[in-house]
Amino acid sequence: MKYNMCWDITSKCNDNCKFCYRNKIKKDLSVEENRKILKNIYDSKIINKLTICGGEPLIYKGLFDLLESIEKPEDISLSIVTNGIKLAKYNPEDGKFVINEELINKLIKHFKWICFSIDASSQEVETLVSRNNLHVDRIRVILDYLKEKNLNVNIKINTLVCKQNFEEIPNLYNFISKYEFIKRWKLFRYLGENNSENINKYFEIDNINFNRTKDFVNNIKNDNIKININDIDTYNGTYIMLKQDGTVEVSYEGKLKEVLDLKTDDIRQIENIQEFNKEKHKQTHGINF
Ligand code: SF4
Repeated sequence: MKYNMCWDITSKCNDNCKFCYRNKIKKDLSVEENRKILKNIYDSKIINKLTICGGEPLIYKGLFDLLESIEKPEDISLSIVTNGIKLAKYNPEDGKFVINEELINKLIKHFKWICFSIDASSQEVETLVSRNNLHVDRIRVILDYLKEKNLNVNIKINTLVCKQNFEEIPNLYNFISKYEFIKRWKLFRYLGENNSENINKYFEIDNINFNRTKDFVNNIKNDNIKININDIDTYNGTYIMLKQDGTVEVSYEGKLKEVLDLKTDDIRQIENIQEFNKEKHKQTHGINF
């Protein structure tokens, strides 16, 4: 069996979203330590999709050195999730963004999928969701640049669905569907793992509004874009989470459980982990948790 892996290569970020549940306690590893881990992943032959995320992966120093130091097997699809801040720098003097063409070209060279997180087409709503107050303009500038240059890219959009933005989802769809290279849109219900009660109260969306959003999304007819909306019960049990300190977590009975440490363990051991197999079994049999 082959698995998807999501690698939080760093917990550091250049944004400060309130809903963020990244683990700031675990420390990032050096490029050398991560090289051993990446080699283990590539050699294992059990991972077919590897997504580099964070934090903001583009602020992990040595990311491209790491990727360039080991040849990626053909059958592994590599993706990255970014907030885009490093890709377009805002110049307050003229109010314009300057595209970092070199970095964009590197991303295109290394990653099959580049994924941007965006939760609204209006900055007003995006600010309520709590991303920085240039986010929507910045992502628009980057997408327009890719379109204008006619670059060969596959773009994916991740969207948080919460109390603050669910009414905006149709507008966001109209916005992203203008770009033909956006081929996937993944929406995630706000779950509030690790967040305080106050933050959860602000973001948590009730079932009625979430189901309305889900109906809207599920009724979109667009062959160009593959759309998924994830509720609490649609977690994919075959997803492996690799944290920035090299530990591997799986979701077990609704909670994250540390099961391996890739600084010393081999990723292939995951197949012998009882908790991981139980979650796979639940998925296969449609039992929610
Ligand atoms: S951009 Fe992502 S990692 Fe950074 S603070 Fe926001 S949610 Fe967290």
